Amino acid sequence: MAINYQLILDSICDEVKGLLSKGKVASYIPQLSAVSPLQFGIAAYCLDGRVFTAGDAQKKFSVQSITKLFALALAFAREGDKIWSRVGREPSGNPFNSLSQLEYEYGIPRNPFINAGALVIHDILAARFVQADIALLQFIRMLARQPALDFDKAVALSEHQTAHRNYAIAHLMKDFGNLHNPVETIIEGYCRQCSITMNCIELARAASFLANHGSIPWDGTRILDASSSKRLNALMLTCGTYDAAGDFAYRVGLPAKSGVGGGIVALVPGELAIAVWSPGLDATGNSLAGVMALERFTTLTARSIF
Ligand code: GLU
Repeated sequence: MAINYQLILDSICDEVKGLLSKGKVASYIPQLSAVSPLQFGIAAYCLDGRVFTAGDAQKKFSVQSITKLFALALAFAREGDKIWSRVGREPSGNPFNSLSQLEYEYGIPRNPFINAGALVIHDILAARFVQADIALLQFIRMLARQPALDFDKAVALSEHQTAHRNYAIAHLMKDFGNLHNPVETIIEGYCRQCSITMNCIELARAASFLANHGSIPWDGTRILDASSSKRLNALMLTCGTYDAAGDFAYRVGLPAKSGVGGGIVALVPGELAIAVWSPGLDATGNSLAGVMALERFTTLTARSIF
């Protein structure tokens, strides 16, 4: 029977209010530090087309690292298993922008969701498309059913001006031969990729194909075969929430991808995609209220992949 999630989302929205002032907004990208932490939105996109929302679900935010999920899906759909010769599939156990592991692992990033891995994925897309960032934007527009999605130029510029660490990562990988395009092209494109803004409804809808064995729920378009979709879900579970993926799996029990803008998108395979946003982050870089909201969602609904 189709469940009505409205009361649950409303009650979660109420429950997390006290947490909103406790998180810390990301400050290493200057433009992001200007966002008020006192915001919270949640949207569930069910595979049967029903949408439930609460709070600031319509408010646009910087999806940042969540774009790594869509970039990976696009690269995996086009290149298949070839991508795994250039990027691994293990949790890194290190911060998302760490350089140290990359040095002793010969420029092969641990997974596609840390920055090094996302730069390699962007490089793979750049070899395939004239402009990787535009190709990715168009892909996300199609998935979100929202042709108006766009980059936020101010955020992209702000990130680019402070992208010293990402430059260092890219140069190190270039030295190891694991970046084929010019460093500048990849960093610029990656900063634009990260600056895409979406709201919770768009984000949940865009990720829903991953809850639907790789097919877009409303028209059946196949983005990934079922097996590849399963594999991306597995990577989300093991590597999708920074260095806290173990704790997130323990508390929430769903595959998910988070970003420093405070967004998290999670999947209940076979049923729905759910997106939350609250800009205040915990010490691991995940949205403090967002993780709690998802924990409450799986507790109240008894939904989990386990
Ligand atoms: N654009 C950000 C960076 O590369 C993404 C960070 C994130 O959301 O994890 O630092």
